[in-house]
Amino acid sequence: MLGFMPTPISQLRGGVAYPRTRVEFDAFFPDDPACLDYLQKLRWPQGFVCPECGSTGSPWQMARGLLLCSDCRKQTSVIAGTLFHRTRTPMRQWLMAAWEITCQKYGASALGLQRVLGLGSYKTAWAWLHKFRRAMVLPGRDPLCGIVEVDETYVGAEEADVVGRRTLTKAMVVVAVEVNDGRIGRVRPWSVPDLKGKTLTGFVADVVAPGTTVRTDGLRAYGGLAKKGFVHDVTVIGQSSSPAHVEMPAVHRVVPLVKRWLLGTLQGGVSREHLPYYLDEYTFRFNRRTSQVIVLPPVGASGPDCTDADIQALPGHRARAPAAAAKSQPLTPQHPVVG
Ligand SMILES: [Zn+2]
Repeated sequence: MLGFMPTPISQLRGGVAYPRTRVEFDAFFPDDPACLDYLQKLRWPQGFVCPECGSTGSPWQMARGLLLCSDCRKQTSVIAGTLFHRTRTPMRQWLMAAWEITCQKYGASALGLQRVLGLGSYKTAWAWLHKFRRAMVLPGRDPLCGIVEVDETYVGAEEADVVGRRTLTKAMVVVAVEVNDGRIGRVRPWSVPDLKGKTLTGFVADVVAPGTTVRTDGLRAYGGLAKKGFVHDVTVIGQSSSPAHVEMPAVHRVVPLVKRWLLGTLQGGVSREHLPYYLDEYTFRFNRRTSQVIVLPPVGASGPDCTDADIQALPGHRARAPAAAAKSQPLTPQHPVVG
């Protein structure tokens, strides 16, 4: 998520454009000025351009990432409009958090982040993680294309004592996986409130390019895909001589990965309300699995800060009637297109 940087991620060289290891991180970012210098280069890769007067003269460096235009004397902040905007936290700590979240193979948990950064409380760590997750929600991503496999699943912790009503505590997730030349491309896991036709075909229409071949099982809710302009390739699993994982191998490989990640990395502590953010993080990480790039939220994508309600909804901080709270807050489908 190099919001400032027009260079495609695939063209960035690890160890040169961004640190790959903790040792490299320390070399890249020994102190805050080094961090701000890095951010400045990302923001203005061709050199500083004053947003006020367009001057390309070298600006004067001031404290905390402020640049003073040598022509019009207008001050410009390197971090304005990013999620670091107006932060009092040292930039090095922010970048370390970004690095932790994006470069760990299995993602970062709030607990892990708290430990690594030496943050005072779990709540702070969670709030940081949440800020990054929100920033990962970027509008305007390219829709999936090629052949796209779509399937749906339940995620969430089992509640052993709620026999027969387990799905109440679980959330429904529909997953679309792009297949190009037999290889898994990008993914879009999405939390949905139900498995009705309008919901599922609406999801496909939101994330898949029109005209694409969409493979699903025989669930009738997908029946409207052809009308929406997709080539609908239906596999009625029960009637097929091949098991599901043979007919739709990509999505049946990705679904368990999503579930394992949610249950493992996050210790199952996923609230229904925040599931879309976790799925965003997964999408972000999966779709960039071939490159490790430090996260830098784009200008204007900082999103709102965490509210008290967010803090109260922390995994592990749901002191008051969690089951009732979960039921009273139906999963609202969030439709930011990410990845
Ligand atoms: Zn100027």
